[in-house]
Amino acid sequence: MKKIVTKFGGSSLADAGQFAKVRSILLMDEARQYVVPSAPGRRFKTDDKVTDLLYKCHRQVENGEDFEETFDLIAARYMDICEELGLKVDISAALDEVHDRIAGGANADYCASRGEYLNGLLLADYMGWRFLDAAQVIRFDDDGALDAELTNTLMAEALADGVPTVVPGFFGAYADGTVHTFSRGGSDITGAIVARAVNAAVYENWTDVSGFLMADPRIVDDPREISVVTYKELRELSYMGASVLHEDAMFPVHKAGIPTNIRNTNDPTHPGTIITLNAPADAKNPTITGIAGRKGFSIVSVEKAMMNSELGFGRKVLAAFEDNGVSFEHLPTGIDTMCVVVAGAALAPVREKVLAQIVASTSPDIITVHDYMSIIATVGRGMVNNCGTAARLFSAMSKAGINVRMIDQGSSELSIIVGVDDADYENTIKAIYNAFVR
Ligand code: ASP
Repeated sequence: MKKIVTKFGGSSLADAGQFAKVRSILLMDEARQYVVPSAPGRRFKTDDKVTDLLYKCHRQVENGEDFEETFDLIAARYMDICEELGLKVDISAALDEVHDRIAGGANADYCASRGEYLNGLLLADYMGWRFLDAAQVIRFDDDGALDAELTNTLMAEALADGVPTVVPGFFGAYADGTVHTFSRGGSDITGAIVARAVNAAVYENWTDVSGFLMADPRIVDDPREISVVTYKELRELSYMGASVLHEDAMFPVHKAGIPTNIRNTNDPTHPGTIITLNAPADAKNPTITGIAGRKGFSIVSVEKAMMNSELGFGRKVLAAFEDNGVSFEHLPTGIDTMCVVVAGAALAPVREKVLAQIVASTSPDIITVHDYMSIIATVGRGMVNNCGTAARLFSAMSKAGINVRMIDQGSSELSIIVGVDDADYENTIKAIYNAFVR
């Protein structure tokens, strides 16, 4: 039978009312047999996320401060949900145990992980489903990296009986059982791991938005929703700052060829965004899928006549960055120039050292640095088949009076990347959006 794995974010499980929505979504389709909950998130704008409160408790204990008040806020969240839904699980005993472990100096990861653990206990009781402690099935190696293959085996074995199960998100454990978490937002990864392990037909990631938008709504008024995006396109868009899903959550499902569907718990009939391996170009938006960007880059350009025939030139330039702990983001090159695009904040503290090393090792003719640059990626699987895309993009920018400082087209023809001054960032995104979508 077809299986669907669902993951619900913190706002989807923030209180009893949200729990009720989740239950009805789960019951709406009997293929939804596995659910990964986050910790209770914000109920209103100024509210606390339980995960943040748990980290706070840990800090307070570490600093020798009283953490009771903070813990009471956490306990109240779970007790309220439990009482309002009339659940039978002994959540106060579970809370007592967490309280005592925190008081006893448990590590930060253990403390933070209890947000999803306790929420999982509530949800399992509410659904009448099995609870599977993620610490038993998600395994990290000694360096803290996910052991993806062992995890997949353990998870698949634990879920092989087909019993509907709740697996709390965000954490797993080392071989000795010590709890370890993913980075923030990591319940998305747990959901993807479960989806791979049960070979789900789809991984549904339920949140509080109806999928991805083609551009940042703070910049473009009412941008269109993206109905279908490929994993590769999404990788480019999220690298550039568009975020709904934890980046590492794409790997397990992408590898297994399982589509991800971003859905809205507060608007459950909305189809959301589907992320797939391959997709035909969007009929509505045949050329571009989305636009995303980031500000605050520095571009170091190194110019030297006959650079192309000088063996090791590029390596020496890059070594200056590597030796000073700065990783590069893009590397557009010309015949006699090489540009290294780096995050401005990473370059600033070591700037003089990097430049001095480049000068010493390559004797360039000219070396210049442009700060306060934005990088904007226009991404679309439809670009390959549409000629004139670049012309359209650059003429829109020129009409808007924007000076293009850098151009980089990925070899996959999946995106066109432009560099502009930070001051032109918003206008560039608007101009590109209007040229292709409006
Ligand atoms: N609760 C964790 C966080 O706030 C993990 C998650 O929600 O995905 O980061």
